[in-house]
Amino acid sequence: MDHVAADKQASDALSVPWEGRDAITRSGVLNRILVRIAREALQGDSLDALMQGICDCLVAELPVAIASVILLDEPGTHFIHEVYAGEFTLSPLPSEGAWPVSRGCAGRCARMGVAQLVADVDTDPDYVAGNADVRSEYLIPIRHRQRMHGVLNLESTQADFFDADVCRVFDAVADLVAAAIHFARMADELQAANGKLEQLSMIDGLTGIANRRHFDEELQRQWLRLAGVQQPLALLMVDVDAFKALNDACGHLYGDECLRELARVCEGQAACAGLAARYGGEELVLLLPGKDMQSAVAIAEALRAQVEALALQHPTSAVGPFLTVSVGVASRVPGPCEAPEQLLADADRALYVAKAQGRNQIRRAE
Ligand code: GH3
Ligand code: MG
Ligand code: MG
Repeated sequence: MDHVAADKQASDALSVPWEGRDAITRSGVLNRILVRIAREALQGDSLDALMQGICDCLVAELPVAIASVILLDEPGTHFIHEVYAGEFTLSPLPSEGAWPVSRGCAGRCARMGVAQLVADVDTDPDYVAGNADVRSEYLIPIRHRQRMHGVLNLESTQADFFDADVCRVFDAVADLVAAAIHFARMADELQAANGKLEQLSMIDGLTGIANRRHFDEELQRQWLRLAGVQQPLALLMVDVDAFKALNDACGHLYGDECLRELARVCEGQAACAGLAARYGGEELVLLLPGKDMQSAVAIAEALRAQVEALALQHPTSAVGPFLTVSVGVASRVPGPCEAPEQLLADADRALYVAKAQGRNQIRRAE
């Protein structure tokens, strides 16, 4: 029998009240519900849609007045989210704020971690009435391995509805919900971890600014974009003067600290929609979309002066008492037959000239 025919047979069976059906008919209905819910659990688009589908199915097919899935927060001390089907005729759901597990039969189920059968709601002091016609309640922990995700709550208008066969099916439904929640949460966690990794793969570990990989990608992207609109792309190549001598005199830890300070200055200068990156070693680059040579030279000079003004001690520099940088400046409007590497080569050549002419200066590419 296909799914549609099975569902029709199940709903035909509903025209006879639950208590009027024989054991075989009941068992057939329960089996079909389980199959349908297993299908929902495997195919739901989102976790909420899946839980809603399950609750709707239980309320539609069985003498269940309220079916709800209530999810716990991470420490398991509060219910934070509820999806339900059925009718709450008395008190509204606690829709705002968290609901502590010290409250209600659902709270007891979460605290104890075992199913709770409330055969007569009038005699259970923890029962919080949601519908005046409800006579009995069954609550099952939603747990995957050791992690408690929440509680499956079922309330019936019949006192004797939750017999052993019915409870067995609901236990299996809770297991299916637990597995579905587990996989949905795992997918979310994996997506978040991938996002974090993607971010980390773009960042230089020492300075916290963009790394070479990020810079290379951005250079290609901006080159193509600016070729399209025929606007210039500027590049500053910044190299610390006599850095090896600084390491030798003051140690690598001090050298590292100087690189971090330099990175902060570069990032500040690139703040107007540019990108500062560590190109490698003690060389940093600034990519400045839209800047012509004149603007790029002004930024380079401001950067050079700002580094000098930091007054970071450099006892073995031939240039002066403080840490200084040399900067090669290039700017080009990307041409049809040019590659972005030409911009890098321009800046590199200009940097070489700045070094050759005494350091602590900027030079523009010819
Ligand atoms: P120049 O003025 O010609 O640029 O001389 P320089 O000493 O700065 O250039 P050189 O290329 O000879 O030396 C670069 C030094 O940068 C050598 C290397 O040990 C150091 N270095 C590279 N990466 C790091 C780093 O992450 N931390 C520290 N502390 N030093 C680094
Ligand atoms: Mg260098
Ligand atoms: Mg250097």
